[in-house]
Amino acid sequence: MGKVLIIGAGGVGTVVANKVAQNPDVFTEIVLASRTKSKCDAIAKAIGSDRITTAQVNADNVDELIELFNTHKPDIVINVALPYQDLTIMDACLATGVNYLDTANYEPLEEAKFEYSWQWAYKKRFEEAGLTAILGCGFDPGVSGVYTAYAAKHHFKEMQYLDIVDCNAGDHGKAFATNFNPEINIREVTQKGKYWENGEWIETEPHEIHKPLNYPNIGARESYVLYHEELESLVKNFPTIKRARFWMTFGQEYLTHLRVIQNIGMARIDPIMYNGVEIVPIQFLKAVLPNPGELGVNYHGETSIGCRIKGIDKQGKVLTYYVYNNCSHEAAYKETGAQGVSYTTGVPAMIGAMMFLKGEWKRPGVWNVEEFNPDPFMEQLNKQGLPWHEQFNIDIEL
Ligand code: NDP
Repeated sequence: MGKVLIIGAGGVGTVVANKVAQNPDVFTEIVLASRTKSKCDAIAKAIGSDRITTAQVNADNVDELIELFNTHKPDIVINVALPYQDLTIMDACLATGVNYLDTANYEPLEEAKFEYSWQWAYKKRFEEAGLTAILGCGFDPGVSGVYTAYAAKHHFKEMQYLDIVDCNAGDHGKAFATNFNPEINIREVTQKGKYWENGEWIETEPHEIHKPLNYPNIGARESYVLYHEELESLVKNFPTIKRARFWMTFGQEYLTHLRVIQNIGMARIDPIMYNGVEIVPIQFLKAVLPNPGELGVNYHGETSIGCRIKGIDKQGKVLTYYVYNNCSHEAAYKETGAQGVSYTTGVPAMIGAMMFLKGEWKRPGVWNVEEFNPDPFMEQLNKQGLPWHEQFNIDIEL
């Protein structure tokens, strides 16, 4: 059906490469490119598929990307490098006529600021070029938006309260490690909290609002309100929502380490001089922390991510609704060599590209996932390793 170019060979890139290789009827040719080509070669070798071509690219450089795209002529690029590269890759897509998908919104390197404005600004140019850009197609953002669109389509006349709940009840046996790129992860979880209520954003101190929530097959876990990027597009695309929040679980050990890291200045994102060399503390920290892509070996337990929604159902009655997936770290590792957080991000990225190639999600412009038909995507989640479950009229605790 089409040729895909994956950019990024970390934990998520590993899963995307595995999953596209598992669907040869859709992805007829695969190219995997990243900054370090040896990592692409190792992934291709582990998959053992001679359909994967590998390449080296610095995705901060638009000219290098253009050359790569012109050499391989992909139909769509799956960007699972870092959020800093979103705009350069989108520029190269426009220059060469390639469609685009990513899992995290653009962030400037020098400021931890998550918002869609930079990428939404490309809408007209993608429209005029007849190209599709699908933003935020991992799990959250990604499946969280598809779940919300599915709830709106099939269950609610009016969605009023949305809580996205993200629990990682896994144990990797390390004192401190992040589940995806440490730099991006620490920037995300140390920022101020923010949620939507009655038409405005309410800001909180980091981790200020928290309470225990019960997760299926896991039990109660302390959960903290964080700002997460999909809130911005979801309240725009579903304007009946009165309150939208994002909750994530953290263990005490994790929070203690995080506090120390911040207090001693290791989370700083501005450059400092060290022995005559300019270094960015958080980037140095990344170099000494465990590589998230290699956490899988001893990772036990499950993730559980879902949407808890309250509103008025199609018949006009009050409805509470919970849709979620639980993913086992061990099963993810056995299948792809990567842990559950990489798995829950990489599988939806593959499905999004599949939706595009099958023509289900093909629409010139720049879109968030909830703006497409959720049904074929939901069907693939069940087939591709992330089955979902629904509960109706239960106590959603929120
Ligand atoms: P990793 O750090 O493990 O991998 C990132 C990869 O991108 C590495 O292979 C890295 O190369 C490559 N890369 C970085 N900079 C460049 C560059 N300038 N040019 C080319 N390649 C580059 O991250 P993850 O795999 O954990 O995460 C990947 C993405 O997924 C991130 O954007 C993250 O925010 C997103 N994510 C989204 C989630 C969701 O649910 N939506 C959840 C988790 C992650 P090298 O190996 O040389 O360092």
